This record gives sequence, C-alpha cells and structure tokens, in this order.
Amino acid sequence: MLSPDQQKPVTILGAGIVGICTALSLIERGVPVTVIDQGEPGQETSMGNAGVVSPWSIIPQALPGTWKTIPKLMFGYGRPLSIDPRVFWNILPWGLRFLRQGQLDRLRRSAMAMSHLCGPSIELYQRHLKGTGQEALLVDSMYIHAFRDGSRANLDAIDYRIRAQMGAELELVGRDGLRSCEPALSPEFKAAILIKGQARVLSPGKLGTVLADKARTMGATFKRTSVREIRRTESGWQIKCDGETLAAERVVVCLGVWSRAILKGLGLSVPLMAERGYHVEFQEPGIEVNNSVMDVDAKVVASSMEGGLRVAGQAEFAPIDAPPTKRREKQLIGIATALFPGMEQRHNRFWMGHRPSFPDSLPALGPVPDQPGLFVNFGHSHYGLMMAPSSGEKLASALCNERLNINLETFSLDRF
Ligand SMILES: Cc1cc2nc3c(=O)[nH]c(=O)nc-3n(C[C@H](O)[C@H](O)[C@H](O)COP(=O)(O)OP(=O)(O)OC[C@H]3O[C@@H](n4cnc5c(N)ncnc54)[C@H](O)[C@@H]3O)c2cc1C
Repeated sequence: MLSPDQQKPVTILGAGIVGICTALSLIERGVPVTVIDQGEPGQETSMGNAGVVSPWSIIPQALPGTWKTIPKLMFGYGRPLSIDPRVFWNILPWGLRFLRQGQLDRLRRSAMAMSHLCGPSIELYQRHLKGTGQEALLVDSMYIHAFRDGSRANLDAIDYRIRAQMGAELELVGRDGLRSCEPALSPEFKAAILIKGQARVLSPGKLGTVLADKARTMGATFKRTSVREIRRTESGWQIKCDGETLAAERVVVCLGVWSRAILKGLGLSVPLMAERGYHVEFQEPGIEVNNSVMDVDAKVVASSMEGGLRVAGQAEFAPIDAPPTKRREKQLIGIATALFPGMEQRHNRFWMGHRPSFPDSLPALGPVPDQPGLFVNFGHSHYGLMMAPSSGEKLASALCNERLNINLETFSLDRF
C-alpha cells in the first residue's frame, strides 16, 4: 500500500525507451504518470539502435590500455571513432575521465554496477511485453564477437574474464563453428567468442510504440510538446513548454542526450557528451543473420530485424545539432558488404542517433542532490535499450520508498 506521498503524480520528461520503461514501472505501482515528449514515443535514439539486450554487456567502454587503441579506432578499418574539432574543449576533460575509468579497480566497480542494470533486462522486457500481442519482438540470441585475426579472440582478455567471473557462458569457436552459427558471414572471420543467454529486439522503434501504448492503456498520459525549461517553485516544479507552463510535484528527467541542456538551466553542469552513432538498414538483403554479430574491428553490430538487415555502430563525438556525416553511409555500406558478401544492397536506409554518454559508461539515476522532487534517469550511452527496464524499475522503487538491492549513490550526479 502506497502512502499518500508516494502516490503523488510524477511527470516524466522524455519518452525514449528509458522514459517509457520508467512510466510502466511507476504505473504498475499505482503512481499516476504524465510523459512529455516533443516527438512520438521511442522514435529518437531508441529506435535506431542495434537491438542488443544483454545481461552480459557489463563492460564499460574504457578498459586498461584503451588509450593505445585510439589511433587505430580513428584511422584503422572502418574508422569507428571520430572527434569533431568543435567539441574539442568538451571532449578533453571528458576523455581524461574516460581513460582514468580504465583502471582495473574502477573497471570492476563499474562492471558490478552495470550488472545490476543489465542483469534483469530480458525478464523485465518479457514482463512489459506481456499481454501486448507483440511478445515476439524479443527473441533469444547469442552475441557473437567476430574476429578476422583469430589470435585476438582470447577468453583470457580482461573483458571476457570479468563476464565469465560474473556468470556468463562464453565459448570460443573457430571458422567452422562460426560458420555453422552464421552461414552468411564472410569467411574472412577466423574466430569468434559466443556470449550466450542473451536476447535481441526485432524492431526497437516498434518496441517503443508498443510499450508506450501499454502504458497509455494502464492510465499514463502522453503529452506532445517541447520542454524549454524547468524551474523550482514553492510547491514543486514548473515545466515551461511550447505555449504553456505545467506544474508538477515530482519530475523525472529522461531526455537522453538533451537532459544536459535542461539541467544547465538549473545551474547544474553534467559531463554528458553526444556520442553519435549510425545505422544502415537493407530492406531486402536476401540473407538472414541469426544472432547479434559484432565486427570487432569496425565496431558495428549486425542484426536481422523486421525492417531488414541492420548494421549499426560507430562513435562520433560532435555537436548535438550538427547534421549527419554523409560519408558514414558509404562507409557503413562497405563494412556491411564485407561482413556479408552475399547480401543484396537494394533499398537501404541511413540513420543517425545520439548516445547520451558519461565518461564512466554509467547512467545518472535517482534523486538530484539539493533539488527536492527532481529525479534523473538518463545517460545510458551504449546500453540504453538493455538498461532501460531495470533503471526504470529502480527509479520507480526509489520514488515509492521501496528497499533497493543497490545503492543509487553509485549513479548520482554527485559522482562527477
Ligand atoms: C548506433 C547505435 C546503436 C546502439 N545499440 C544499442 C544496443 O544494441 N543495445 C542497447 O542497449 N543500446 C544501444 N544503443 C544505445 C541506446 O539506443 C540509447 O542508450 C538509448 O536509446 C537512450 O534512450 P533514451 O530514452 O535515454 O534517449 P532517447 O531515445 O534519445 O529519448 C530522449 C527523448 O527526449 C525527447 N526530447 C528531447 N528534447 C526534448 C525537449 N526539449 N522536449 C521534449 N522532449 C524532448 C526526444 O524526442 C526523445 O524521445 C545504441 C545507440 C546507437 C546510436
């Protein structure tokens, strides 16, 4: 039974997958919810990702020795990393924090924290999808890390060791083993590490629509308008939107990469970068990929989805409003063709989205210090699809004063 205080309505800013899952977890607990977004639910960054839902994506982006790999990432095959000179002064302090994060003790701490958010992702999505008629949007899958240079597929590498220590089932296979899992993959790939016990989403955009519809059916209100500013008042919060001002006692900021600008209006500075990523989707590829397959050199993930074969990835640090980099399309088509030489290239779609990335690969989750009634749930970087249900659940638990199995201080904005 919730106390009258816990039943106070909550206004969620942002209807990406994180905002939608937060809404579902609150409404399941009987808390009235309004969700505000300037667009259709789940159709920004959350629609274009690679669809990986993994309890074992618990390894932050920075590892020991990551700094040595930067030239290769920027100038090697596929050029997965790029930095626009216009963000140079922001990326400098962010990058130093990022590299510090690669120290072994920090890496282990982050992996533990990430496991709380990624671990329950499959079960929670199954729960959220139940009764929608779209349960088949989530399917069992392995995550296949495919290597051209077989000697690099090493289960003793620190990232695989941590996964195994935390319970992941991993298998190293050679070319034949890889071919039997993924016959369409180029024979250039000599070995792979199979990460088992995962899932993938067959249409991340449709998932957002279906779960938002479910939240609506359960009583959530979705409002389409743009948030300009939030302000504290005597009794709560004022949300200035296009053409109207709304009042709320409790507010959760789930605006993905756009959260930084809204918090700046309150004098809060957060080290959140727009880490842009891309996909190409081939609508009639003539081949099928059975799992989520990562080309570890080009840092892209391929997955057969409802709309066709999607190849997604790359990390481009650039201003939020900069237009997509056109050359990425040709580059991604080249990478996709090298991955799957038998693929038809007709009817492809090119897309860009913004990962909201903190240097430690952890989101900001929980109450904002010294701002009563204000909560955050954003900054899920490469992991937002898989972390969304659990971070939504944890935030809802915190708002309802339930006991949590993790200390939310780990995800506090105060950590920076
Ligand atoms: C190429 C690529 C591949 C990826 N692959 C994976 C993967 O396989 N698995 C995984 O777990 N994650 C993956 N990710 C990461 C994942 O997609 C993101 O972490 C996640 O989508 C972030 O969700 P969000 O709800 O925080 O943000 P968003 O989906 O960006 O939602 C933010 C919402 O805020 C709204 N908004 C913004 N400003 C305003 C405003 N002023 N007023 C009102 N509304 C506003 C937007 O319209 C949007 O709906 C990938 C990302 C990319 C780019």
